[in-house]
Amino acid sequence: MARLGSWIEPFPEGIYVRPADAWIDPSQPKAKALVTHGHSDHARGGHSEVWATPETLAIMATRYGEQTGNPVAYGETMRIGEVDVRFVPAGHVLGSAQIVLEHAGERVVVSGDYKRREDPTCAPFEPVPCDIFITEATFGLPVFHHPDTGSEIDRLLHRLHSDPSRCVLVGAYALGKAQRVITELRRRGHDQPIYYHGAVERLCRLYEELGVPLGEMRHAAGVKKEEMAGHIVIAPPSALNDRWSRRLPDPVTAMASGWMRIRQRARQSNIELPLVISDHADWDELTCTIRELAPREVWITHGREEALKHWCMIHQIKARELNLVGYEDEDD
Ligand SMILES: [Zn+2]
Ligand SMILES: [Zn+2]
Repeated sequence: MARLGSWIEPFPEGIYVRPADAWIDPSQPKAKALVTHGHSDHARGGHSEVWATPETLAIMATRYGEQTGNPVAYGETMRIGEVDVRFVPAGHVLGSAQIVLEHAGERVVVSGDYKRREDPTCAPFEPVPCDIFITEATFGLPVFHHPDTGSEIDRLLHRLHSDPSRCVLVGAYALGKAQRVITELRRRGHDQPIYYHGAVERLCRLYEELGVPLGEMRHAAGVKKEEMAGHIVIAPPSALNDRWSRRLPDPVTAMASGWMRIRQRARQSNIELPLVISDHADWDELTCTIRELAPREVWITHGREEALKHWCMIHQIKARELNLVGYEDEDD
């Protein structure tokens, strides 16, 4: 009998599904690419043909120009070569999907990046029991425990209100994190205008077009310093310590990322207000997900693989590291 999942071949540049002659999240241009979500480490330009959710295709179009894309709705099953393929929500960012592959009586789920906690900007992770669960392990260490998102947002608002002469500058990845932080602020009753850096503007607009309302957003460019005092400004992490931030009124520098759990990281990047808000599963979410899906094997794509692999072994689940390259943390 063939080895479990022998039709799925991991290469450093992505996962190759032989009977479909297609790649998942390839880092090199390919003839057929199935793309889990729009972060640039998973979705690259230059493929001949792309299968992705309509939201992911729209995100790719804003970044790389129009794609030769096959939009795939969540839950719809299609046949590619000899494989039944279905995209289900991954709860990571708008349009993010796990890819469910069925062939030769085996079911393999490629989760892409995912999280389990609620996110008002995207559909929640849908657990699909499977034979092989291919997972990320970005925060695959027991030390990674993401606190409740609401309490992190409350800390942000408390800081904002404690000194109305300053603004709070929040570093957040342009795709997903920025819109999530904005939406969580709105949920907590913050209805003031929020200012943004030009680099997050296009994706904020796209989220709104795709049905995620963000409330009143204003461009930070050309606005007088005093006007932004007592307000929140959202910018990509790269803008936090550069010249751009000098236009802001004495900013409290904040950063929304799972890495903010590591105080040293926050200090190194001069973050005054670290906010532990992540779009990835933390240790408990990773291990609870594996328990829930009860796969026969777990394959780990990227992140801190060792600890998760060890956890699987202890729980009598076969695990292997795929050592994919080029999956960086655009999106933590
Ligand atoms: Zn991602
Ligand atoms: Zn990723």
